[in-house]
Amino acid sequence: MSTRVRRPLAKAFAKYSMEAVVTEAELVTPTMRRIRLVADEPITFPYTPGQHVRVQINDPLSVYGILRPSETLRTYTIWEFRPQERALELRVHLYGGDGIGLRWGRDVRPGEPVTLWWPQGDFTLREAPYHLFIGEETASAAFGPMIRALGPAAWLYGVLESDSAEHDLPMPGPHRLRRVHRAGASAASSRTLLAAVAGLDLPRTVGAAYVAGEARTCQMVRDHLVKERGWPRTAIKVKPFWTPGKRGLH
Ligand SMILES: Cc1cc2nc3c(=O)[nH]c(=O)nc-3n(C[C@H](O)[C@H](O)[C@H](O)COP(=O)(O)OP(=O)(O)OC[C@H]3O[C@@H](n4cnc5c(N)ncnc54)[C@H](O)[C@@H]3O)c2cc1C
Repeated sequence: MSTRVRRPLAKAFAKYSMEAVVTEAELVTPTMRRIRLVADEPITFPYTPGQHVRVQINDPLSVYGILRPSETLRTYTIWEFRPQERALELRVHLYGGDGIGLRWGRDVRPGEPVTLWWPQGDFTLREAPYHLFIGEETASAAFGPMIRALGPAAWLYGVLESDSAEHDLPMPGPHRLRRVHRAGASAASSRTLLAAVAGLDLPRTVGAAYVAGEARTCQMVRDHLVKERGWPRTAIKVKPFWTPGKRGLH
């Protein structure tokens, strides 16, 4: 498997990619790894909190990548962006399973080079009287930077699911989002998350909802907000991050 032949493609698409090196990597929960990356060059790309990078794990133009295009890039939200330090951080969920992203997130060590494909995505904040965040561990990794950008005075609601309390990803700011725990159950089609959302005491007015994580759970939560609470679909941003049987959603 090719893990290091990255530069030719990166050079060809230099406008969209950058070379970086891992400078720190440590667990922040038993299944969430903080990975700090520092770019070789000054970072000049535009960025909005909630956007993601694509980590090049295998070169898409290598023989390996051409034969297995779904085994090349993996998507992770930028948890923290510090352009003055040419640095960004990721939070990578080490779920119980197997995938190239999981292996990279678990095994990568300080000093290793990484090619990143630059921020994309419109899973970002919108103007609203209040904000509602719903999802599991991978969604929490995306909500962190959005919640930080909203600031301590913002009006927030949310339900964050993880396997157990020790797996709760610490979030920025003083906000108290509801935490629920699956206790070993699957995060796919999560009844735990849905029940907690159904139990939320929300204002009568509609806010802006952000729903991410496993695709079928996202669908169930959106259906609840639309059918049971009468929210317009346009008030709900949904971003499926993964689903059983599919590789490398982006
Ligand atoms: C826009 C966007 C932003 C994202 N941001 C983050 C982030 O900041 N942090 C983060 O950890 N993840 C994030 N993800 C999710 C991450 O990209 C996926 O979990 C990805 O599938 C991991 O790649 P992999 O190679 O490990 O698994 P894949 O090869 O893609 O999948 C292999 C198998 O594992 C399953 N699987 C994948 N992820 C999970 C999971 N979390 N739990 C249980 N089973 C899983 C798949 O369904 C599949 O069956 C994001 C995804 C998107 C689309």
